Amino acid sequence: MTYLPRTHRLADLTWPEIDELRPHAPVAIVPLGATEQHGHGMAQRTDTARAEAVADMVARRMSPQVVVTPTIPVGMSEHHMAFPGTLTLSPVTLQQVVVELVTSLHRHGWRRIFVLTGHGGNNSAVDVAVSRLRAELTDTHIAWSGVTPVVSDLVKANADSPVRGHSCEIETSQALYVDPELVLPERLTRGSATLDDLNPAGRLARSHPGINFPQGYDALSPTGNLGNPRLATAELGALLVDAVVDRICGFLTGLIGLPDRRPAPPPAPIALETS
Ligand SMILES: [Zn+2]
Repeated sequence: MTYLPRTHRLADLTWPEIDELRPHAPVAIVPLGATEQHGHGMAQRTDTARAEAVADMVARRMSPQVVVTPTIPVGMSEHHMAFPGTLTLSPVTLQQVVVELVTSLHRHGWRRIFVLTGHGGNNSAVDVAVSRLRAELTDTHIAWSGVTPVVSDLVKANADSPVRGHSCEIETSQALYVDPELVLPERLTRGSATLDDLNPAGRLARSHPGINFPQGYDALSPTGNLGNPRLATAELGALLVDAVVDRICGFLTGLIGLPDRRPAPPPAPIALETS
């Protein structure tokens, strides 16, 4: 009979259950969220909810091969601090949180780990953390992604606003699908949706792809959001989120099939010249 765990959520299991599950679950997902403003019509926990929903859907589909840690509910949101209520960790703290959580999983035997961030502001800290972990945990495969970037082709095909990326039609559609309670439809406002809506610094930043010129969201949009969330639908959210889940499951299946990562051999000794 196939072994089925009571749940894939690490925090809901007892240690004997985890001990039993571990050999059946080669992959651990660490979801990261944020507590940050999402404009007038969407809750601060939106990124946390999206990351957690995707992680849960992936784990359910791949059961029992995937466990999911608790979602870290605060990320790097310095660029949203001008709005009431946003919480932020510094990039160094977030980086360290990721390093220490992944290291904990490694100590319990996990050697394939996927960090999933629902918030793009976490990316630089996660990228540095993963670089450190690759060097420190030389027997471990570590990968990471955002949610929306995994389906950037579908976003391009389905978005209306040329300027988007935060509480826009794409993100709000995902929220309507994973947890409609995140959204107050009557309060949604069109944000900065074209280059003309941005201030000069924002326009300069957004009109030169590939050049990084970070701006606070208060400079980009008086309401705190981009794009037009009034165009959001749960149907579009389903299309996007289900595709994210498909693609991450595809990746993780490949990851499980890889041979274990082997530590790099130590460098050859330098030959001493004898003359
Ligand atoms: Zn968000």
